[in-house]
Amino acid sequence: MIQLLERLRALVGDAGLITEAQDAAPYATDWRKRYFGRPLAVVKPASTQEVAAVMQLCAETRTAVVPQGGNTGLCGGATPDASGAQIVLKLSRLNRVRAVDTVNNTITVEAGCVLADLQQAAAAAERLFPLSLAAEGSCEIGGNLSTNAGGTAVLRYGNARDLLLGLEVVLADGRIWDGLRGLRKDNTGYDLKQLFVGAEGTLGVITAAVLKLYPRPRARATALAALESPAKAVQLLSHMQAGCGDRLTGFELMSAFCLSLVAKHFPATRLPLAQAHAQYVLLELSDTASAESLDATLENTLSEASESGLVLDAAVAASEAQAAALWALRENIPEAQVHEGKQIKHDVSVPISRIAEYIAVTDAELQRAFPGVRMLTFGHLGDGNLHYNIAHPEGGSEEAFIADSARLSRVVHDCAARFGGSISAEHGLGQYKRGEILRYKSSLEMELMRRIKTALDPQGIMNPGKVL
Ligand code: FAD
Ligand code: ZN
Repeated sequence: MIQLLERLRALVGDAGLITEAQDAAPYATDWRKRYFGRPLAVVKPASTQEVAAVMQLCAETRTAVVPQGGNTGLCGGATPDASGAQIVLKLSRLNRVRAVDTVNNTITVEAGCVLADLQQAAAAAERLFPLSLAAEGSCEIGGNLSTNAGGTAVLRYGNARDLLLGLEVVLADGRIWDGLRGLRKDNTGYDLKQLFVGAEGTLGVITAAVLKLYPRPRARATALAALESPAKAVQLLSHMQAGCGDRLTGFELMSAFCLSLVAKHFPATRLPLAQAHAQYVLLELSDTASAESLDATLENTLSEASESGLVLDAAVAASEAQAAALWALRENIPEAQVHEGKQIKHDVSVPISRIAEYIAVTDAELQRAFPGVRMLTFGHLGDGNLHYNIAHPEGGSEEAFIADSARLSRVVHDCAARFGGSISAEHGLGQYKRGEILRYKSSLEMELMRRIKTALDPQGIMNPGKVL
């Protein structure tokens, strides 16, 4: 072990190696503090060549490697186990923007580039990099690609997978695959780069990527609409899509309970509607054309929706500050939940047409299984993706409720499967859902995944214990 540590130090220098347990602690647990590991060391290479050298050494010594970006993942994918034998490979020092190409509309960045910095680099070139999520101030593009992150603009721009044109990967044996092509069209066999997207660090280490840029919108129009039920929200989605086309960029559902927690734990929160309603949708349009035409489109489509009784009340942001305040309602939900206590979290997707029925049926089954539980449902309705979280009954024991997690999650996941859905829409499997997925994927799918894993990582050193 000591010899391995000294060889790692020789590769990455003192600045790139953490060996003291106390210093390594922040890298040994996840964002939710649900998993705790004990790494042999945290290794922080500063270049692709250093990553390659570290991987060569790990392949030679059969040392397990846990890649880590911003460590905001929600499934324990970036947390080492407790053996003291795995290294955490922290990519954050690889954070350069290598190139911005405004003719090809691409940006080439290293894996450790923080998502918000990438967005800013695109904005500085009058372009948009559309991936956007509440963790954008700390998550990194390598982590976003490895979890195929979604977020709030998927409705219009797709998820991380859709934004990717080229990839640089250090393989499990330390070789560097330079696939940094920015081509829009390339039909020369298997699309290898996509294998690494959503692989959660189990197939190789992403070190850099070429990503798509879009024209920077000149105008945004944001509104909060109140509705009676999720079914009305689905109808509103169709109505907005018909009236606004692909200018509809965001469509986020939030239940009244979610907003009440935001108001409780973020005292500065001001709800812009006079009366409380059962459900809310945060919607956003964006366009490269003028703000006036966009505002008019939003006002017209929303007033049609309220005349027909679909929308009960609505507030349209009149300034950037008001738009930011509306987005804060949505983006503060994850943290408000943390302050409220422990919940059982799910990240499911079902066909959009079946979302309302899914919520009704799952709510009813859960109430039967555990009377009094409180559902925190919110998410990217436009993508059929719900964060379906459950809190313990008011006044009831949180411990007893959490101890029953497996049974309650089973209800949520089985319902998703019954409705033709997925048990992980955007957060991935990590170690959290690694066992659970065996119940829902066919044995043939699992076999194909294992064969790919063996082909790319025959020694099984890439993030063992995750996904498969
Ligand atoms: P990490 O947590 O560091 O790693 C995630 C996984 O990727 C791990 O398995 C790790 O081993 C692997 N990995 C990391 N970097 C590399 C690399 N360079 N090469 C190979 N493997 C690597 N997700 C969404 O999709 N949509 C949301 O709206 C959303 N909202 C969130 C809101 C909050 C407040 C938080 C905390 C999380 C949210 N997430 C969301 C979870 C999301 O997965 C992460 O925020 C993000 O995509 C992970 O990036 P990261 O750099 O933090 O990755
Ligand atoms: Zn989400």
